[in-house]
Amino acid sequence: MMWIPPSLPRTQPMARMAVLTSGGDAPGMNAALRAVVRTALERQVEIFGVQKGYSGLVSGDLQSMDRASVANILYRGGTILKTDRSDAFKRPEVRAKVAADLRARGIDALIVIGGDGSLTGAHLLQQETGLPVIGIPGTIDNDIYGTDDTIGFDTAVNTALEAIDRVRDTATSHERVFLIEVMGRSSGFIAASVGIAGGAEIVLTPGEPVDFDGICRALAESKARGKTSSLIVVAEGDDPDLTNQLTRHLNTHGFQARAVILGHIQRGGTPSGHDRVLASVLGASAVDHLLAGYSDVMLGVRHGDIVRVPLADLIANKKPMPAAILELAKLLAT
Ligand code: ADP
Repeated sequence: MMWIPPSLPRTQPMARMAVLTSGGDAPGMNAALRAVVRTALERQVEIFGVQKGYSGLVSGDLQSMDRASVANILYRGGTILKTDRSDAFKRPEVRAKVAADLRARGIDALIVIGGDGSLTGAHLLQQETGLPVIGIPGTIDNDIYGTDDTIGFDTAVNTALEAIDRVRDTATSHERVFLIEVMGRSSGFIAASVGIAGGAEIVLTPGEPVDFDGICRALAESKARGKTSSLIVVAEGDDPDLTNQLTRHLNTHGFQARAVILGHIQRGGTPSGHDRVLASVLGASAVDHLLAGYSDVMLGVRHGDIVRVPLADLIANKKPMPAAILELAKLLAT
């Protein structure tokens, strides 16, 4: 997929900007950072990198970055700026001080690369202090309203698939049922994609009731049709014990079930080409949007176009899981 950044007028004189990565790290954050830094420098804007997300803003830990500071990071997972969670930043008086400190350094605007929590913080900072902010969606979960895609999602799906393909080999050799728990917080986007691409027999996403006996019946039917192994993809969801409970249930109902919790191995790793391009385009465009006077929006993608999503909309809405995707996963599994 190729996204074309809009060509924007430069109406807003800005001498300095800051950029940070926040919340859960996602592969491709470095590619976004590199694009922000190099685009800003190209536009004669000095760019400051903030260490450890909002924690570094609170403690004033930021440095001016040059082109070389982002060399050789395009292909590295994680984020060289590091990320963190900051409770202090949730307090309005702390955000007021942060904005005053940024202004005292001559910094005119802030770019935030992170998930919905980080973007909520960015919105509050902008609303309360008037500091221009632009958000970039960086999370493996793809759970941000207003954008089809987030930086890191494609890589996380591919990483989970690699693991699933290996488990499938063992499942087939031993005629077992494997339950594979994938990340995604309370959204099921990783599970649905991995389920379809990995050929899972059953996909369990958050928000759908889980019928243990119905699953036993479905597995028995598929065995009767001649299937020797089965994979069930479980989204980590809101119940941290679901995978283990279901595994125990299957084991006491005549199946040989094993649970594999993929956990943090899905977070890291080399970003896919898709995520590197997405991150590069959004990072570069974030700088240009600030120079064109935009603020309080996240840049996302919809139907191949770059879109501006007001941060207030993103906070007020939950991204829906399209029912058609879950139906497709079911249809292809039978
Ligand atoms: P993510 O951005 O991946 O969703 P979090 O939800 O942990 O991750 O948010 C990251 C950081 O963003 C928090 O540690 C906090 O500093 C800031 N943040 C999150 N929610 C809010 C909020 N409601 N108000 C202000 N800041 C917030």
